Amino acid sequence: MIVVMRPGATTMQINEVLDRLGTFNLKGELSQGEERVVIGVLGAPIPAGLGQALEALPGVEKTLRITAPYKLASREFHPLDTVVRVRDVEIGGNELVVMAGPCSVESRDQLLRTAEGVRERGAKLLRGGAYKPRTSPYAFRGLGEQGLELLAEARERTGLAIVTEVMTPADVPVVGQYTDVFQIGARNMQNYLLLEEVGRTDKPVLLKRGLAATIEEWLLAAEYIMAQGNRQVILCERGIRTFETATRNTFDLNAVALVKRLSHLPVIADPSHGTGKWYLVPPLSLAAIAAGADGLIVEVHPDPDRALSDGAQSLTLENFGRLMQQAQAVAQALGRSLTPEPLSTI
Ligand code: PEP
Ligand code: MN
Repeated sequence: MIVVMRPGATTMQINEVLDRLGTFNLKGELSQGEERVVIGVLGAPIPAGLGQALEALPGVEKTLRITAPYKLASREFHPLDTVVRVRDVEIGGNELVVMAGPCSVESRDQLLRTAEGVRERGAKLLRGGAYKPRTSPYAFRGLGEQGLELLAEARERTGLAIVTEVMTPADVPVVGQYTDVFQIGARNMQNYLLLEEVGRTDKPVLLKRGLAATIEEWLLAAEYIMAQGNRQVILCERGIRTFETATRNTFDLNAVALVKRLSHLPVIADPSHGTGKWYLVPPLSLAAIAAGADGLIVEVHPDPDRALSDGAQSLTLENFGRLMQQAQAVAQALGRSLTPEPLSTI
């Protein structure tokens, strides 16, 4: 349930609502809108008749039941866009944010070259997997903690914040020592113990949509993280499995636009995994921006043919630079900004 206060409701009136909720062991979470305060009610069960009783209090305009099974993640609960801050970058505001880097951290030289290259072309975060979920157990599975050390070195040199995947609850402390953003991979979207573990940290979480997850299941996965206290969740559409085999996945543009409506959380598009083909990454990146994405996460490799994972979907630095220019034009057409200039902190 949410309690919508009248414009200009006083602190005393708001507190009265909170006190009343408290008597039923319910918690109220305030969300300050442009005109009015909305109070989200957390906890269960919500007694019958509570809505009517609250509507009788001064300053209360109305109460509404939230019909979606996710609460904290829903836009009804929190009408204004959430902006997630990562170091000095804001994700979910008017400016679009691009995260770029290799699929896997392979070597010091590969990572530093990519980091410098994507920074020069306007990326604000560096991506790179150190713990890789691979379909085959015989494929390259990442450098582990050594990869995390290289990411930290790249951050030191470039000023780019880091986003990297954590695969198990046990790895959350070690990955948390290095990363700025925890990435939850598609295969782990419903690993509820992992979601709760990152939910207990104070670092932002990039939550990828599962390979065959519905939008509701995806938002419920975000709810698992948020229910533990961590409200800094960034949703990432990375394509879903359909009957189509011409592309690696079917990049779901519907989801990008719909989730912006259903949720207040920022949405980032991953057209690299969404398509599996490097030459489809630029057009789908631009389409995702047009559909309302708050940014992109793109795989970039200095020599895609020699990549140890996902080379076929990785852009060269040159192609990434071209995409950034086009992305800026699309963003501007929509009244948003995207700056292909390097971070000014260096
Ligand atoms: C990745 O980002 O390299 C990755 C493994 O992505 P996903 O979990 O979306 O497959
Ligand atoms: Mn990858």
